[in-house]
Amino acid sequence: MESTPLLDKLRRYIETDGPMSLARYMELCLSDPQHGYYMTRPPFGQEGDFITAPEVSQLFGEIVGAWLVHTWVQQGCPAPFNLVEFGPGRGTLIKDILRVARLRADFMAAMNLHLVETSPRLEEIQRTALSGTNATWHKGFGSIPEGPIFLVANELFDALPIQHFQKAQDGRWLERSVGLNEDRELTLGLGIIELPPHALPPNADKVEAGSVLEIGAMGIALMGAIAKQIKTHGGAALIIDYGYTRTQIGETLQAIKSHQFCDFFRYPGGSDLSSHVNFEALAAAAKAAGAHTHGAITQADFLLRLGLLERAGQLGSGQSPDEQEAIRVAVERLAADNQMGNLFKVLAVTNTQDAPAAFTG
Ligand code: SAH
Repeated sequence: MESTPLLDKLRRYIETDGPMSLARYMELCLSDPQHGYYMTRPPFGQEGDFITAPEVSQLFGEIVGAWLVHTWVQQGCPAPFNLVEFGPGRGTLIKDILRVARLRADFMAAMNLHLVETSPRLEEIQRTALSGTNATWHKGFGSIPEGPIFLVANELFDALPIQHFQKAQDGRWLERSVGLNEDRELTLGLGIIELPPHALPPNADKVEAGSVLEIGAMGIALMGAIAKQIKTHGGAALIIDYGYTRTQIGETLQAIKSHQFCDFFRYPGGSDLSSHVNFEALAAAAKAAGAHTHGAITQADFLLRLGLLERAGQLGSGQSPDEQEAIRVAVERLAADNQMGNLFKVLAVTNTQDAPAAFTG
């Protein structure tokens, strides 16, 4: 492991305070103010470490925009309202959303735009992307003003720190921690914090020792706060991410650098750390706050039900064969089962039982 400023910092922390939880390791790797992954580099695109759906094609953001406007109309056009994007990356998604939203003057007139971003570097890129648009930036959800919210988060929850609990030989589920071995290399261990039995899924006593359960406490708390505001003031949230719809035992924490998987201790702060999102846990958090949930459905179902193919046809008509081919490839990438279509899920949260578009049936 070559030494880097963040690795030195992690070693110092562990040598001073003892092993840290995996969630803390993830948080420092992603968001350390000086050396965190999101703080030091724009991670997206061909030259970056991964490509997100809005970066694949404008079709994605346009469909999300149409859904947001439609849901706002379905709820009786509440005015004023907050349009919120959580974790806007390069600002591509919000730009595509606004291009569609501008077709509805009443939506634009009632809208106050809020972006939640922890990385100053990405905030800067977003400010440039949105120059000329009135928007307010926030470091967390807590400062979003009261009132109805229409919120979207794409690939945000996968980036929030998670805890690992591992089944020990004696059957207890203990929190995984990050410590150092004799060579001062990062290494996994077990801490003393035990997961209470009521937090375990039904099959937990059947799986073998060494099995891992992931708990995304930060994501659950955030979902609860968003749902509470929706319950109180109305609105909707659309959560899009890779993940699963039933709580499962197994580890999904992954590190990606330059479009390749790598060990998550290999490049602290230099690789993207993320985990698959537990949509069952998010839906439960939203319901516990009194809101209604819809889905999660697959990204393929979401996009196709909202007219991905028709919109792609319009976008391609009159274009060169090369451009039409590029659109076809993008559609496949977004919606094919073996690409993003099936792995990515979409969860909607509202304050009424009425299913929003794409979530009926
Ligand atoms: N939504 C964008 C970017 C996804 S990457 C897209 O689809 O292209 C994750 C984004 O969330 C980045 O902008 C990252 O800086 C931001 N982020 C990560 N943790 C965050 C947190 N705790 N609060 C707010 N934003 C966060």
